[in-house]
Amino acid sequence: MFEIINSPWTKTIMRPLLNKDLGAGYKSPSQKIRVLTEEWVGEEVFCPSCGACINRYEHNRPVADFYCPICKEEYERKSKRKSFGSKIVDGAFETAIERLKGNLNPNLFLLAYNPQNYEVLNFCVIPKYFFVPQTVEKRKPLTKTARRAGWVGCNFVLDSIPQTARIFYIKDKVQLPYKGILEHWKKTLFLKEEPRLGERGWIIDIMNCIDKLGMKEFSLADVYVFEKELYIKHPHNLHIRDKIRQQLQILRDSGYLEFLGRGRYRRT
Ligand SMILES: [Zn+2]
Repeated sequence: MFEIINSPWTKTIMRPLLNKDLGAGYKSPSQKIRVLTEEWVGEEVFCPSCGACINRYEHNRPVADFYCPICKEEYERKSKRKSFGSKIVDGAFETAIERLKGNLNPNLFLLAYNPQNYEVLNFCVIPKYFFVPQTVEKRKPLTKTARRAGWVGCNFVLDSIPQTARIFYIKDKVQLPYKGILEHWKKTLFLKEEPRLGERGWIIDIMNCIDKLGMKEFSLADVYVFEKELYIKHPHNLHIRDKIRQQLQILRDSGYLEFLGRGRYRRT
């Protein structure tokens, strides 16, 4: 275990480059990038929940890479070349689902870097409660010839996570202010209050529909357009329109939407 430091965050500028010298002793590119990103996150990133410094867990801990000594939030970090893409590989499918069911999954730090100069292009955190079973995709079992034949892994489907869930620290190489990051995190906390995965999944589905509309203001009828799509996802639900209205109400009560009257809504 690393030393516990409860110091407040004092940095104002995040270092734009990963320290590539740290990877000199590693042959495997994936191992090298692990070392580089681990150091960078440990040095440059504060806890988005409370603003304190985060600490590294000892190596090979199965679930998370970092934790906050103050608010106890846990973080896993994943990195990609160039951009986040639409999916990101995670571990065993069953384990991922079990963790979601027990609310034991960590928050996710995502880092995209330029493989030429190791500049951090984008860095964000996705709060853990945005992960529900429909954001986890089962992969094909490993073939008979594989060392772990039959093992089933999974992907996190980033496309099925609403835009608002990406809380950026660095967006297209531009660093965002400390206070704004903490405020953005707070705005997403309402989801945490819904412990039932199925219900939370519904809220996330409707947030995705609103993202797809791409409008600041929209009507109930606009969201009803997704009725069929939602029915395919939830074939046991015969009252999709009721469910849509219920989620819009939750989003309004949480401050995510403003109700303008006559079935019209505005994103706040
Ligand atoms: Zn914290």
